[in-house]
Formats: sequence, C-alpha cells, structure tokens
Amino acid sequence: MELIKKNIAAVKARIETSMADAGRDQQSLQLLAVSKTRDEKYIKSAFSMGLNAFGENYLQEAVNKIQTLESLDAEWHFIGPLQSNKTKPVAENFSWVHTVDRLKIAKRLNDQRPESLGALNICLQINIDNEPSKSGVAPSEAIDLALAVSELPRLRLRGLMAIPMARQDIDSQRQPFRELRLLKEEINQQLDNSQKLDTLSMGMSGDIEAAILEGATILRVGTDIFGPRTDKANNKEL
Ligand SMILES: *Cc1c(COP(=O)(O)O)cnc(C)c1O
Repeated sequence: MELIKKNIAAVKARIETSMADAGRDQQSLQLLAVSKTRDEKYIKSAFSMGLNAFGENYLQEAVNKIQTLESLDAEWHFIGPLQSNKTKPVAENFSWVHTVDRLKIAKRLNDQRPESLGALNICLQINIDNEPSKSGVAPSEAIDLALAVSELPRLRLRGLMAIPMARQDIDSQRQPFRELRLLKEEINQQLDNSQKLDTLSMGMSGDIEAAILEGATILRVGTDIFGPRTDKANNKEL
C-alpha cells in the first residue's frame, strides 16, 4: 500500500503542475480513481489518502464492492460499456454514469432510478475519433441525443466523456480533447441556463496533461494510481 501512496502523490503532483500551467483553479478538477479489477483493500487505501470517487467498469464486480464498502462515504461512477438489459443495478447503485450513448439506455436509467436517490448524473460517451468498433455516439449525433436526455427528469445530464485513440505526443493527444470541449460548447448553446453542461470526463493515465490543458473536469486514472492491471482482468467483458 506504500506504493499506492507514492503513486497518488505523484499523480496529484502532475495534476497540480498541469493545472498551474493551464492557469486553472485546482478545485475545478476531480480525480476519479478507476478501481476496476482491484479488490476492496486498494479502494480503502486510496480512500484513506483522500480519494473518494471511484470508477468501475464491470457491473457485478462493482455492485459487490459497493455493497461491501457501504460504510465508506464514496461516490461511485459507472464507466464501462452498458447494455440495455443491465441498466437497473446501475440506476440503483451509482451516482454517475459516463457511458450513455443511446436514448434507449438513458430512458431505462431514468425509469429505474429509485425515488429515494437524487437524479443520476450522466455523461454522454462520444466516439470522438469516429472509430467503427468503438462505443459512443457519433459527434454529429451528439446534440440531438443531449437535447433528448436533458428532458429526462430523473437524470441530470452533466457533460461529455471520450476515450480517444492512443496518440504519442501531447499535441496530438490534445486534438480529440479539444474537439470534445468544442462539442460541449456547441451543445450548451442549445440548452437552457439551468441545464448547461459542466463536465468533461477525459484523460487517463497516459494523457492526463493533455486533458487538463483542454479543460478536463474529471480525470479517470487507474494504472498510475493502482499499478498495471493483469491481462485477464483487463480483458474481462461483461
Ligand atoms: C480502465 C479505464 C480507465 C483508466 O485507464 P488507465 O489507463 O488505467 O488510467 C479510464 N477510463 C475508462 C473508461 C476505463 O475503462
């Protein structure tokens, strides 16, 4: 657990430097610890070092952890691929979903969100590089989807999320993030003041700096906090 402590300190230092370079207020960014495939002791350890928001990809694994760690005052974000027949446990257990890319899924989450909980925070996943096999709504269809999702009363549409193709240098990494930021601004021109998007969920271990420079408000970081994932766990699909 010493290693996690060092890793978190190193990630926080990178974030501080980049936020300063970008001239941004340190408070305008949330670090989401991506805890998929990590067992509870890693999550408790990260929590004890001040991280309180966790991202999970695999539903059954996530629900088990959320129940086991109920006494922890943690915020849970669903960031994995979401099938429409699996929306109910997501609506019941999470505060955020980053991977909505179809109206059908949004409507199900809206209908299944328990009354006892607040509105479910939503990001639309955008297929920012228009990759044929990738999840996410095409950028050209994002505005229509955003307008429809923003009408659903049990959801709160917060912003956009993307997982761009890997790129080597920071200038090329910035390009898809910039496109995501511009798309958010375009959508905001069509939304009422009370509904404006305030979230860009972008940036992972390999492109934290580029994402911060382009205005990320949630960074999703796994490897650089918890270390490398094993292949088996990494490839597990729901
Ligand atoms: C696994 C995952 C991450 C974290 O990636 P790292 O490279 O380990 O930081 C971020 N976002 C999503 C959607 C993921 O599935």
